[in-house]
Amino acid sequence: MASSLRDTRSAELYRRALTRLPGGVNSPVRAMGSIGRDPLFVARGEGAELIDVDGNRFVDWVCSWGPLIAGHAHPEIVDAVTTAARAGTSFGAATEREVELAEEVSRRIDGVEMVRMTSSGTEAAMTALRLARAATGRELVVKFAGAYHGHVDGLLVAAGSGLATQGLPASPGVTRGAAADTIVVGWNDGEELVRVVAERGSEMAAIVCEPLPANMGLVPPAEGFLELLREQASACGALLILDEVISGFRVARGGAQELTGVHADLTMLGKILGGGLPAAALAGPASLMRMLTPAGDVYQAGTLSGNPLSVAAGIATLKLLDEPAYLRLAGVTQRLADGMREAAGPSCPIQVQSAPGLMTVFFSAEPVVDFDGARGCDLDAYGAWCRELLSRGVYPPPSQFEAWFPSLVHEDEHLERTLEAAAAAFAIVAGGGR
Ligand code: PLP
Repeated sequence: MASSLRDTRSAELYRRALTRLPGGVNSPVRAMGSIGRDPLFVARGEGAELIDVDGNRFVDWVCSWGPLIAGHAHPEIVDAVTTAARAGTSFGAATEREVELAEEVSRRIDGVEMVRMTSSGTEAAMTALRLARAATGRELVVKFAGAYHGHVDGLLVAAGSGLATQGLPASPGVTRGAAADTIVVGWNDGEELVRVVAERGSEMAAIVCEPLPANMGLVPPAEGFLELLREQASACGALLILDEVISGFRVARGGAQELTGVHADLTMLGKILGGGLPAAALAGPASLMRMLTPAGDVYQAGTLSGNPLSVAAGIATLKLLDEPAYLRLAGVTQRLADGMREAAGPSCPIQVQSAPGLMTVFFSAEPVVDFDGARGCDLDAYGAWCRELLSRGVYPPPSQFEAWFPSLVHEDEHLERTLEAAAAAFAIVAGGGR
């Protein structure tokens, strides 16, 4: 396939955007700076494809960073949202559908009896920390290097994703006080975790992790590591908070907890839960969740929480996610991952790491097991490879520290186009074309 990418209109919009939006975007990774180009402006999405304002058509492997497991503008989801919109876009009052969605979440995830919806994963993380601190009467929180739980001050310490992309160790504006209550442990470093729990376990409110971290690229837990977290949290009386904002409803019907058999005290959800509209949640047993206002006194609220359009999109999306859908998603991911290894061949040293519905191609000669490994990848090569993919009609995550998001609507044809483009792009990078 010939290399071509028109971007006159995107470039024009970017110039305008830079004067009114910081960095020209409303969320950092969209800027595409880490792959050495300016952002593309999207006009519309159709199934597994994205069409930009210059008319370029891409196979989309970002799918809005996870929510669009059924692809763009899925007819059943669009119908559900438009029907809901006709009945009113927001009430600030309770609705039947919120109960339905909470019931479906608790059917899917073991140990979830109650759900509190928020508008973003960041808010779910804020609520999780507040509730864990209230429940334990303790303040310390353990997080893992390279894990991202939204832009909550206290968790914006050694966070992956956008921050890693920009090479910032943390963010200015986060107070020493907010960071002081967070201990950062290396992902997959069991010894360090055990040592930290031995030293400070009695002060710990929570251990929080992504059970399948995907914000330093996909770096699955080493065998036994999640079990160790569960054991250490229970032993010191801290809550285990599993952030399933990405993995929830994606890697299995009941998320990473079903896949790994390791269960949380509190679960964070988002992305797929809102089917492409803003929604996230904190979920857990009634004994903890009833501490939230108005059942209890741990304050939490949101004008648009449980928004009827988001709830309608979430219910419609979860309806599509039956067992055959998960089998299909796992199959697509496997073929994508295998195809990438083959496309790279021996001349381009890469690691393809995957879980059902998630994949990262690391430009590294060694498997990536932690944040240092991810940061040690050849970021220039990744950037060059992505630029080549874009010019061949494939839209990859524009950062080495992110995952690819296969969906239910990626067909054979999309896989073929992607792998053909990937092979050509690998060849160029291996030949030193950057
Ligand atoms: N947790 C994880 C694992 C995430 O990947 C994200 C966002 O990408 C968040 C939390 C924050 O969610 P939001 O962007 O909705 O605030």
